[in-house]
Amino acid sequence: MIESFEKIKNEALAEINECTDEVMVNNAKSKYLGKKSEFSSLMAGMGQLSNEEKREVGAKSNEVRTVISEALDSKLKSIKDEALNRKLEEDKIDLTLPSKKRHRGTKHPLTMVREEIEDLFVSMGYDVVDGPEVDSDMNCFEMLNLPKSHPARDAQDSFYITEEMLLRPHTSSMQVRSMLENVEKKPFKLICPGKTYRRDDDDATHSHQFSQIEGLVVGENISLSDLKGTLELFAKKMFGKDREIRFRASYFPFTEPSYEVDVSCFSCGQKGCNICKGTGWIEILGCGMVHPNVLRNCGFDPEKYQGFAFGVGIERVAMLKYGVSDIRNFYTNDYRFLNNFDRKEM
Ligand SMILES: [Zn+2]
Repeated sequence: MIESFEKIKNEALAEINECTDEVMVNNAKSKYLGKKSEFSSLMAGMGQLSNEEKREVGAKSNEVRTVISEALDSKLKSIKDEALNRKLEEDKIDLTLPSKKRHRGTKHPLTMVREEIEDLFVSMGYDVVDGPEVDSDMNCFEMLNLPKSHPARDAQDSFYITEEMLLRPHTSSMQVRSMLENVEKKPFKLICPGKTYRRDDDDATHSHQFSQIEGLVVGENISLSDLKGTLELFAKKMFGKDREIRFRASYFPFTEPSYEVDVSCFSCGQKGCNICKGTGWIEILGCGMVHPNVLRNCGFDPEKYQGFAFGVGIERVAMLKYGVSDIRNFYTNDYRFLNNFDRKEM
């Protein structure tokens, strides 16, 4: 019997040594130590032995079981280690490979222009305020000297949500809100950038949704020359330091006097081109001195306070600055268009 155990041990060790995966190790385990193994049947036959023999054979069987078990464990461990090493080797990252070029997006051109304008006015001490895109007829029109029957409303027809609420047709509604909120009636200056809406048919230069920046300064001893100086700075910042501006008399119900402002053509040096339509001047915004009725409506005494206001179309400035001929390009998110403003690959 001792010899039989010895034989099992040698066979088992030889077979375990040949194992190359976990399945083979498990098979060897049941073959040599399992219930139906030769080892088990030998053990079952031990009952017929004498006590003397039992001791001797028992010691041998223990030794064989231990040796086979240890060989199985150690083989299993080496198979697992090898698999792990192989995996690590396969997954190794080659740090010397060139990386994939990562494409970084950029700010939308309207955002770039808006931020540039904001920076300029913040540097002059203006606050930047935000206002609701849905506002009342009162704030959008009536307080701005545009009563319900006023014909100038036609040009600013917007989308009404109820009889009294509408998508704001201009950021000028923020003039009213700012003046009303300024309960202490102290001088202030602010700009308000934001989206505005009008019932326009969309074409190359019109959109039912666009964006404006409203400017408003209210205080004592504010004059037209303050407005002109401010807008001159604006024109030079946005279109180049050699730009000049000119005021043309115009009409807005909420300013008196009112002006359209032109900037000298940055494209042709005022010789005349298709951007300035041969005139040497390009219209960029509307402005004026705050109408006494508007001041009065908002609780400011027009005898004591004056103010100026202006409204700039952000799209208009962006189109001029970047030579964009169709306003719809700003809203369609066409990658081929936006790519022109990209910082390219980093
Ligand atoms: Zn020109």
